Amino acid sequence: MKFAFNMPTKIISGRDVIISNYKIFSSLGKKAIIVTGRHSAEANGSLADVLSALKLAGVGYDIFNNIMSNPTIDIVYDGAKFAKEHGDDFVVAIGGGSPMDAAKAIALLAAQDISRESLFSGKYTDEILPMVFIPTTAGTGSEVTQYSILTNDELETKTTLSSPIMFPDYAFLDGKYMCSLGKNTTINTAIDALSHAIEGFLNKKANEMTAIYSEKAIRIISSLFKKIEENDLSLEDRDNLLFASTLAGIVISHTGTTAVHSMGYSLTYFKDIDHGRANGLLLGRYLEFLYDYIPDKVNEVLSFMNMNSVSEFKDKLDSLFGEKEKITKEEIVIFVGKALAAKNLQNSLIVPGNDDLIKILEDVFLGA
Ligand code: NAP
Ligand code: FE
Repeated sequence: MKFAFNMPTKIISGRDVIISNYKIFSSLGKKAIIVTGRHSAEANGSLADVLSALKLAGVGYDIFNNIMSNPTIDIVYDGAKFAKEHGDDFVVAIGGGSPMDAAKAIALLAAQDISRESLFSGKYTDEILPMVFIPTTAGTGSEVTQYSILTNDELETKTTLSSPIMFPDYAFLDGKYMCSLGKNTTINTAIDALSHAIEGFLNKKANEMTAIYSEKAIRIISSLFKKIEENDLSLEDRDNLLFASTLAGIVISHTGTTAVHSMGYSLTYFKDIDHGRANGLLLGRYLEFLYDYIPDKVNEVLSFMNMNSVSEFKDKLDSLFGEKEKITKEEIVIFVGKALAAKNLQNSLIVPGNDDLIKILEDVFLGA
């Protein structure tokens, strides 16, 4: 059996792990830049826990709390400038995928001078600020990946910055911060994680180890479909969803994502559709495409969810996501052009061509 498996991020999970592990903060530096979104970290208690832990550790901090959803290249350069001006020597990221992704780029840009032109080249030295990550959505798995996905206006899409030095040093997992998530964000983020687990399973780079993580994540998330839909998740369910999204993050740190994410980026960039929702709208129809080529593999995924057919899965996603956005035929042609240029498309076990992608998007949005 031939495979390689690597998870450099130390993952610490449990109730109140931030406070109980406060000594870790002082081992990383003297002053943290806390990278977070505008409101949620304050509302869900994660920021207060971090501030208490920093106080116990005798570590200073500055707060950079203006990360928007789908972070821009400008905001990460601003964040790096802020960190340098304040003399911050490590990064604490709190939030969903947006603050976490932004924080990785900030940690990189605060430690070395990289021009905008060479930002996505991957050609960096090894310098980067140490990072502690605290996810407050159970979706992206960014706390355990080497990816920072930024909105790229020049290419009119989302582009991935990827480097082995961008794995966070620590990920603290505590599902209690997710109790404040609204129904739609819970659905979108849970299905993003499911999409990572499935895309990582039906993936050229999948291996025996990642398959175990995929299967577990798919089983956990699908077992909670009903509760997610009814917005009836207990604290324990929140912990489990977070566990699943971290497992799925470990999967894509090895495999990358596939055609679903390649197409989804345009839905987010051009139509402002939330990242997880964009993937969820496409995932069922993508499995239908794969079923024609690799039915046994797709059936394996369905069996993890205790489902008998792709249409049963599509129905479940339809009921979670409700009415779809309107997209024109002309837009679909543009989106397919972007998807064909996306690197992750090639990870797909069966790589869809131009006509396949057009058909998938038309079926989903035009009902053709
Ligand atoms: P997000 O954009 O980080 O957050 C969405 C919304 O949820 C924001 O309004 C945020 O508010 C709010 N929120 C966060 N935590 C909350 C909580 N505990 N309670 C209430 N509200 C909360 O969404 P996301 O889906 O987690 O991340 C999406 C981003 O991650 C995209 O840019 C996507 O491309 C990226 N992504 C990265 C990877 C990777 O491997 N690195 C993988 C998949 C996706 P505030 O703004 O106030 O915080
Ligand atoms: Fe994703």
